[in-house]
Order: sequence, then C-alpha cells, then structure tokens
Amino acid sequence: MDQLSGLALPPTVEDRRSACPGLFRMAKALDGSICRVKLTFGDLNTDQARSVADAARRFGNGIIEITNRANLQIRGVRPETESSLIDALLMVGLGPLTDRGDDVRNVMISPIAGLNKSKIDVRPLSLRLLAALQTNATYQTLSPKFCVLVDGGESLAMVEHPHDLWLSPINPDDPSTRYAFGVAGVPPTKIDDQPALGSVDAEKAFDLITTLLDLFIDWNRHHPTASRLRHMIADIGTDSLVRRVEQRLDHRVRSEDLADWRRTLPQRNGHLGIQPDGDGSSWLVGAMPPLGRLNPDMLRSLADLADRHSNGKLRMTPWQSIFLPEVSTETAKRARADLESLGLTVDPQQPLATMISCSGSAGCGSALAATREDGLKLAALLREKTLVPQIHMSGCSKSCASPSAKPITLVATDPGHYDIFLRATNGPSRFGKLLAANVTIEEAAALIGENSGSGGPLHA
Ligand code: SF4
Repeated sequence: MDQLSGLALPPTVEDRRSACPGLFRMAKALDGSICRVKLTFGDLNTDQARSVADAARRFGNGIIEITNRANLQIRGVRPETESSLIDALLMVGLGPLTDRGDDVRNVMISPIAGLNKSKIDVRPLSLRLLAALQTNATYQTLSPKFCVLVDGGESLAMVEHPHDLWLSPINPDDPSTRYAFGVAGVPPTKIDDQPALGSVDAEKAFDLITTLLDLFIDWNRHHPTASRLRHMIADIGTDSLVRRVEQRLDHRVRSEDLADWRRTLPQRNGHLGIQPDGDGSSWLVGAMPPLGRLNPDMLRSLADLADRHSNGKLRMTPWQSIFLPEVSTETAKRARADLESLGLTVDPQQPLATMISCSGSAGCGSALAATREDGLKLAALLREKTLVPQIHMSGCSKSCASPSAKPITLVATDPGHYDIFLRATNGPSRFGKLLAANVTIEEAAALIGENSGSGGPLHA
C-alpha cells in the first residue's frame, strides 16, 4: 500500500517563482522587497558578513533575518537599489555558480556535518549535488521551494522540517552503511512516522537523488501547475515512484527490513551554548538573536567575534540561530559571554532562545497582528518561567516562519489576539490542538506559564 496516500493534488498551485524571494528576484513586502542570500550550508566568512551588514544598511531597511533553511534575507530593499545590492553580494562571492542557479541551491545538511571523523561525512555528496542543481539546465526548472536533506545521522540536526527528498545513513557509525531515503517528509524518528521508502549503497546515493529529480521533472512536464514531490506522490503513489526508480537505476532499492528503522533523535536545543564540534578538538558556540533577526551593527559585531574566536567563520542554522565554529577550549566561555553581551540568547531556558516569528503586520499584508512585538512581550512575561517549550508566533495560518508544527503556536486572530495551539501528531489543525481561542498576550503568557515546567502538560 502507498505510504503517502490521501494527499490531494491541488487544483492550482501558486506561480512557483513569484512568492519565493531570491538574490535576483526580490519578493515584494509591506516594508520593501526581500532579497534572500543563499549560503552554502549556512556558512559566511567575516568579510561576507560585513558586506551583508553594509548592504542591508545602504540598500535595505537594515533588517537581516536568518531563515529556517540557514540562509539570510535582507528586508526593505528599495526598487532603485536592487541592482546595487545584487552587485555588492556577488562581489563577495555570495552568488550562485550560474546565472539561473540561485533558486535551486536548496540542500540542507547538519551544522556539524563532517566534523566527527569517525562518522559519515555527507559534505562531498552534498557539494556535488549543489553543483549539479546549479549547473544542469533541467534542474534549474525546479521550484525555488524544492529542497533536499542530506542527513549524516549527526547528533545536531534539524530533521523536523519536511523535504521533497531526504537521505539518512542507516548506521552513521559504519562507513559502508547504506542510506535510507524518502520523499515529501522527514527521516522517521518516532514509531508512527512514515518509514523510509528504500535504501541505496553510499556510492549510489548521488544517482538515486538525480534519478528522483529526473523522474519528478518528467512528470512535472505533464503537470505544470505542480511544484513539489508531494504533488507527484498524490498523483502516482509511492509504489509507482519506487518502481520507476528501480527501472531507471536497474537495481532494487526497496528494503522491507527498513519498516522499523528509525533515525536517532538529535540532541534537544543542541544549537545553543557550548557544544563539542564532533571529535572534541574544538567547540561550537551557539546563540539565538531575538526572533532570528539581526541589524547591521549586530552582524558586524558577530564578524568581529568570529575573527577573534572562530577563525573568521560564522554559521547560520535552520533554528534561525548562529554558531561560532572552531572555538578553542580556552576561549569558549568568553565567546559565549560575548554573544550574550550582543543581545543573543544562549540559555535554552529562556523563551527567546527558541522563539520564532514571521514578519507580522510590519512586513506582511496578510498578518492580523504585530507578531514580533507581541512575541517579545510574551517572552518578557515568561522570563521567570522554566522549561517553556518552543513558541512560534504566526501572523496568519500560512506559517511562513516554520514548515513544521512547533510545541506551541500562536496564530493571530486580531491585533494583539491569538489562538494558541499545542503540537499534536493527529491534528486537527496543522498546528495541533487548540488550547485557547482569541486570547491576549497576557492571557497567553498566563496559560503557557501555568502549564510549563517539568511536570506541566506543555513540557515537551
Ligand atoms: S505567516 Fe501569514 S502573516 Fe506571517 S508572513 Fe506568512 S503570510 Fe504573512
């Protein structure tokens, strides 16, 4: 039986390019255009960071956001400054490999991929895939939202966000392990998650991915309004997809013994504080800017910190946070304190360490409330509470800030008012179960505070 049955092919799908910003195609918002700057695996050197900071000040409104795919976006770009902004970013090596390669450079890996020498290193495969996506004219027709997760089984990884296609090693400690794979979802971590569709030898992983891309693009020619692999699955089903893959590759990929395989759950809040870099030779120091947003001064100061503590490197993460990588044992605590003094949060107990928000009414015409201001107010009200789960503030039900349900979601209903949802695997809403409707921020803080803590029902 098909594993992903029940999905409906949408009658219409929005124009695949207009709503999704890129470097060369900026999306219009209430506060000006948004320029998305895609980073290879979240990495930014300090020269690039200073250039982004300067460009955001000169050509935008000074707001720099970290996205949930570990990219950056510059907000408030004025029409007359768009080309100067693009030139400034290209000058520091932040462009794609080819003119038409920007939209499709969507490959996600762990921020610690390849750092632990005793584990699988997915970076060579991921770099090869990134190059193929950008240089193969056929792949450049994919939707800007089309994304691939190449998981290495690391202890620090974002495996909650659904991807069109994912790969994950069955045993990350075994260099000869096979990769499990799936489509339109996530690597299974829980008993009721969709199991993997099959597996391939590591040396065949690239061929598997390109075969799936080729099959999708062939199907897409006859279904031009569709844009994602989930639409193809809704049409043909997973059994048919796997059969087609096996025909093209001329070998079997189905593995019945994968029905019970589950990826080990990553460390909770591993993106915060001082973390081993994998083999213990140095440290990553992670921190969250308020609601994943920076201003030019903060980004310049982070570049100074990276020069001082982490060999001139900064790494963005899909938690919308920042890592200083390669920090020595001697300076790790100093680096952590320096990040806090810039206004970033490193303590996972604090609500602002994990809270995310869309732009809200300051930047989006669909927003029913000022989510960012309300989020900061909520975080201040919850400041003394312990073990508050992650909170997502959303200006409407579209959920732009998070592709997956978070433990608590506040969805705006009116200015200053929200419905509160608690994550649940079986709905009924995409956000989970409704806890309270149309409450104020003060009422939300009281409800969340009452139920948090180690024994509270909201403790996730
Ligand atoms: S979630 Fe809604 S309000 Fe927020 S940015 Fe997206 S469309 Fe706008």
